[in-house]
Amino acid sequence: MIFSLSQIPGAPMSFRILRTHRAAPHTHPLVVRLSSGFRRFQHRWYHPEEPLFQELRRGQKPLALVIACSDSRVDPVLLTDSRPGDLFVVRNVANLVHPYEPGGGALSQSAALEYAVKHLKVRDIIVMGHACCGGIHALVRAKARWLAGELQKEAEDDEFIGPWVSVAWRALEKVDEMMPDACEEDKARACELWSLRFSLENLRTFPWVREAVEQGTLELHGWYFDLQSGELLEYDAREEAFRPLVGRPDPTHHAEPAGEHRGRHPHANHWIQHGEELWAHYGEHFHGSPARRDHHVRHHGDPHGAALPGRHD
Ligand SMILES: [Zn+2]
Repeated sequence: MIFSLSQIPGAPMSFRILRTHRAAPHTHPLVVRLSSGFRRFQHRWYHPEEPLFQELRRGQKPLALVIACSDSRVDPVLLTDSRPGDLFVVRNVANLVHPYEPGGGALSQSAALEYAVKHLKVRDIIVMGHACCGGIHALVRAKARWLAGELQKEAEDDEFIGPWVSVAWRALEKVDEMMPDACEEDKARACELWSLRFSLENLRTFPWVREAVEQGTLELHGWYFDLQSGELLEYDAREEAFRPLVGRPDPTHHAEPAGEHRGRHPHANHWIQHGEELWAHYGEHFHGSPARRDHHVRHHGDPHGAALPGRHD
């Protein structure tokens, strides 16, 4: 059976939607994989009687705005086991926040921020950074090449990445000043943390963000997902340090920690199974190699309550 949207009353679109009882079989492996994932999403979430979607059809009321990196490994919805409708997400290269610029500049980021704060009236903004960030590494490499007189070539290679990540130049300068002899990897890691701190500062350059923060109706958070250890760190502005919000995962503990979803969602068992699948997939990476851990402790000190790299004496 084939009919078009234009035949549906109240749908004045000219695009036809071809509906058949059985979808044409797809052979593209990626399409097969992702569409079967969408089928599971429907099964877990999109039941006709599911009250969540009845609510979401009327509109969104997200709990927070999350500004995260576009990196495929750091999806904030997945990392926080959130439900559809929970998080309003902006993702960009290196989870950066460009400062307020009247009439222009970083339009995509600023429009999303404006919508979340002024219209959705979110009460929390989380800037979520992460380890092994390609955008920050690009910046560190760009500076090294600039010092070596090769910046022009870098600029030609990356027409857009360079200007975008240049907002974190200030973070890199700080790192260079505080740990001038560190290796590129350590500088990048420190720069990930410092740029997160400066992004929080840049958020406050937007007048309506600053105002809401001062009135106590908006709170800013800096989180850092450490891909090496599996921890989630939180920025403590008073101490100018990061501390674990969630410590390292325990590989011997397979049961899913109790949370809001368990027992609440009708398909909670799927999530338990999903969590175990995720652990099986990522556990090894989360744990990291002993050598990498030793390197980390040697260069950054005790991760439990680690000061911003470059700041501890
Ligand atoms: Zn990144």
